Amino acid sequence: MSDATAAEKAATGPLPVVPFLKIPAQGDPYLEGHACKACGAIFLGERKVCSKCGARDQLEPRRLADTGTLYAYSIVHRSFPGIEVPYVSAIVDLDGGGTVKGNLINIEPDPEKIRMGMPVQVVYKDALGRKDREGNSYLSYFFQPRG
Ligand SMILES: [Zn+2]
Repeated sequence: MSDATAAEKAATGPLPVVPFLKIPAQGDPYLEGHACKACGAIFLGERKVCSKCGARDQLEPRRLADTGTLYAYSIVHRSFPGIEVPYVSAIVDLDGGGTVKGNLINIEPDPEKIRMGMPVQVVYKDALGRKDREGNSYLSYFFQPRG
């Protein structure tokens, strides 16, 4: 890969950390699910067959809500080198459908402070300021308490 190509790529802005994070040219980033037209189930990522009702070719992309409630979490004390611990790994049920795993931020990693079912919102931030070998930065999503 030449330097020019790397510079061009970097100039296009951050890349999404996961395929279901969409970064439109205009407007705010969002999470995209696929909703089954037959049964209404919502999945992350593209698929051909609904794993809830078995309908084929009935899934259509849908922009998911930026708000939801905390379904489950765990406080992570050990991770890969370079990852700050402890942090809160969470599973969130988004309003209107879709269940997403991510990190809960802007809250103390303390079970006394974290409540199941608490309202959260999705926020989009640079993925820890890291860049890959080609100079690309990445946009990630996080959850934070919504009050
Ligand atoms: Zn279905």
